[in-house]
Amino acid sequence: MTLTRNAKQVVAAAGPAGVPACQGVDPELFFPEASELRNGLSAAELAALAVCAGCPVVAWCLSRDLAECTVASRVRGVRGGLRQAERRALHVELFGRRPKNGATA
Ligand code: SF4
Repeated sequence: MTLTRNAKQVVAAAGPAGVPACQGVDPELFFPEASELRNGLSAAELAALAVCAGCPVVAWCLSRDLAECTVASRVRGVRGGLRQAERRALHVELFGRRPKNGATA
């Protein structure tokens, strides 16, 4: 998979400069059953991504999400305009595969 976002821009995104588009939206919408990266988006993922598409803080959201997740497996749901599988791939691209629970490889 080739990611279209510039990884350095993503992690350097500034703080929120607007109101998140998901404010007041049922949080469950952002936790649809996750599709595999090689498969197309599910209808439920598309519904969540449609909210993100109109969000003024999408870069900040994605940056914060990536920073808060210490391992890719903790990346869950739709955030920052990306589905779970895409954000896990981006997390691995940015940070590599980190050992769980601080274990050394
Ligand atoms: S980009 Fe983040 S803050 Fe904006 S609607 Fe999506 S999940 Fe909410």
